[in-house]
Amino acid sequence: MSLPRQQALELRNVIEARRSALLNEIREDVARARREQFGELAGPAPDAGDQSVADLIADLDQADLSRDVDELRAIEAARERLAQGHYGECVNCGRDIDYARLRANPAALRCIDCQRLYEKTHAVPSAPRL
Ligand SMILES: [Zn+2]
Repeated sequence: MSLPRQQALELRNVIEARRSALLNEIREDVARARREQFGELAGPAPDAGDQSVADLIADLDQADLSRDVDELRAIEAARERLAQGHYGECVNCGRDIDYARLRANPAALRCIDCQRLYEKTHAVPSAPRL
């Protein structure tokens, strides 16, 4: 990784902040889904704070959560790359991903050129496929 140290630190903060926000969002959604599923008889939702991320993800099959879960997986993968020193390298061409792009999308896997190419050759997930 050839990012200057200061930029790497800032991006780590962006990743950690995004991860916390996503985890909170997902926990709230899960707690709400459980309340709706079990109703008042189940009492207050169990504290999800003790759950590991893996348990949390395994618990999620609601379609409206899949976007957050997908993003959380991507963020987790970005943390892993950061820990291993590969963060910020385009997975297709190996060049450094633009810092501004990483700030806006810390889980980005590709440089902007490769991403455009990728989106041309792969269906965008949100596009209707009829
Ligand atoms: Zn690239």
